[in-house]
Amino acid sequence: MNRETRLLITKTVITSQFALIWLALALGSAYTYGLFTDNLALEAATRLPAFVIMNILFGYLFVFYLISIGYLIGRRIWWKLGHKPTEIQPELKQRLLNLGEHVRMQMAPITKVRFLVGRMSYNAFTTKKGIIVGEKILRDLSDIEVEGIIAHEIAHVVNGDRWKKGLGLGVGSALVIVILGVFSFTRSSAILAGTLWCLFVFLGIPLNWKIEYDADLKAARYLGFEVIAKSLEKLQPNVYGGISFSHPLLTKRIMRLRAMNSKLPAA
Ligand SMILES: [Zn+2]
Repeated sequence: MNRETRLLITKTVITSQFALIWLALALGSAYTYGLFTDNLALEAATRLPAFVIMNILFGYLFVFYLISIGYLIGRRIWWKLGHKPTEIQPELKQRLLNLGEHVRMQMAPITKVRFLVGRMSYNAFTTKKGIIVGEKILRDLSDIEVEGIIAHEIAHVVNGDRWKKGLGLGVGSALVIVILGVFSFTRSSAILAGTLWCLFVFLGIPLNWKIEYDADLKAARYLGFEVIAKSLEKLQPNVYGGISFSHPLLTKRIMRLRAMNSKLPAA
C-alpha cells in the first residue's frame, strides 16, 4: 500500500469516527434531556434516531475492531506459511539501541526501557513491551532527529501516560456497563450508555492532547525545543498529521515548540 492510500484510509477512518460520535452524542443528549425533563414530545421524536445511530456507531466500532484483529491474525498466518518479510537488519536494531540508551541516560537514567524496531512502520509509540520505533524512521532520520522522537516516547514512559489512558478507558467502560445494568438493558439504557460513552470520548480528547503536549515539552527540556520541532517536522510527510482522538494537529505541536523556543531568554 503506498503512502497516499495509507494516509487517505487513516483520514477517512478518523473523520467518519468523529462524525458518527458527534451525531450520536447530539441525538443521545437530546433524548436524555427529553427523558429527564419529562419532555415527552422530544423524547418520542429522538428515541428511534438515537437508538439507530447508537447501533450504527457500535456496529461500526465492532466491525473496525474485528477487521483490525483479523488483519493481525491473518498477517501472522501469512508469515507462518513462509511469507515472513526479511528480518530487520541488526544494524538498525543496534542504532536504535545506541540512540535510545543515549537519550535514556539523559532523561531517565534509573528507568528501565526496552527499544524495539517496528517492522515497515513510520510510527513511534510506547507499549507494554517498550518503546517501538518504526523501521522507516530509523532509515530516513538523522541521529538527532531519531533522538527527538525517542525523547518524546521516553517522556510518555516517565509521565506514566499508558497508565493514565488505561485508567480512563477502564472507568469509561465500567460506567457504560453499570448504566446498562441499572436500566436493565432496555432501549433507553442503550441510548444513555452510548451517549455517556460518546461524552467520555470527547472529554478525553483535550486530556489526550495535553498528554502529547506535555511529552513534547519534557522531551524539549532535555534535547532542545528546535530539536523536537525538527524531528516532528521530518515525520510530517509520512504520517497522518490531522487531529485525532489521541493527538493534536502535528503542525500545531511544531508551532507550539517553536513559539516556546522563541520565548526562551537568549543564552
Ligand atoms: Zn506521544
